[in-house]
Amino acid sequence: MSKRIVLALGGNALGADLAEQMVAVQSTSNAIADLVEQGHHVVITHGNGPQVGMIQMAFEAASMTYAHSPVLPMSVCVALSQGYIGYDLQNALHEALLNRGIDKPVATLITQVEVDENDPAFADPTKPIGSFFSKEEADAMVAKGAHMKEDAGRGWRRVVASPQPIDVIEKKTVRLMFDAGQVVITVGGGGIPVTRHGHHLKGASAVVDKDLASAKLAEMIDADLLIILTAVEKVALNFRKPNQQWLDRLSIEDGERYLAEGHFAEGSMRPKVESALSFASSKPGRQALITMLSKAREGIEGKTGTVVG
Ligand code: ADP
Ligand code: MG
Repeated sequence: MSKRIVLALGGNALGADLAEQMVAVQSTSNAIADLVEQGHHVVITHGNGPQVGMIQMAFEAASMTYAHSPVLPMSVCVALSQGYIGYDLQNALHEALLNRGIDKPVATLITQVEVDENDPAFADPTKPIGSFFSKEEADAMVAKGAHMKEDAGRGWRRVVASPQPIDVIEKKTVRLMFDAGQVVITVGGGGIPVTRHGHHLKGASAVVDKDLASAKLAEMIDADLLIILTAVEKVALNFRKPNQQWLDRLSIEDGERYLAEGHFAEGSMRPKVESALSFASSKPGRQALITMLSKAREGIEGKTGTVVG
């Protein structure tokens, strides 16, 4: 049966640098093309952690060498990352579809996501982006206004605010393309965060969680299924503990309870489970699936992954 799917790609679908991404988009595109070949309608969303970090850092480094070179606002860095990742994905996916005899338009849509300027996240930046620095380098960056945090014993990283997504500004265009049977790549990196001031949308210094933004989009374009693809086949209780238990199904009630009990790590599995629950509970018949890219097909057939709702 043909489904309307929002497919959220995790970091491992794109790789950690330029060379890895060039290779990763091939296998990612083949897996997506398999789903299209089966008759499913897909909208693709994706993260941008390594890419937005790379872009931000390149401009920062240039500004240290050339006095007139600008340091880019985070919103512009997200926009650039959408363009770069979208280009790679639409190119590889178009080819993978043609190799299957499918001549379908594939296009990337630059997408803005509205956030609230009073969101408490702005006062407490938590989302790490880009590369690692020493304590001394970090102190120098803090002196210039950056927010830095120590990341799990690995070194210091720049952190940015990660406010809640409220609205996807280009949702009607995404829907038109989706309903016309075209493949759309959108809400890249969680969308370009903007705050609303009358008719004006102002870029915000933040990175929206891509899973939360994908769940919002999935609701707005009336998808049946939100698939969150990541590095694990299933969601676990007591993850990496001796009593770890992989979940085949997760009801809304159990999901809410496990969230409250702290089973899912902040910044990684927690937003995925939150996103899955919010989409699956938004309308009867809607479901979410958390699994890995290579298992997406089996997951849709109900053979693996964690089905939410
Ligand atoms: P992505 O780039 O796909 O968003 P993340 O690293 O942000 O990936 O989140 C996925 C990771 O979350 C998994 O690879 C796993 O290591 C980790 N994780 C944390 N808690 C859990 C859990 N309860 N069950 C499964 N994986 C978990
Ligand atoms: Mg993530």
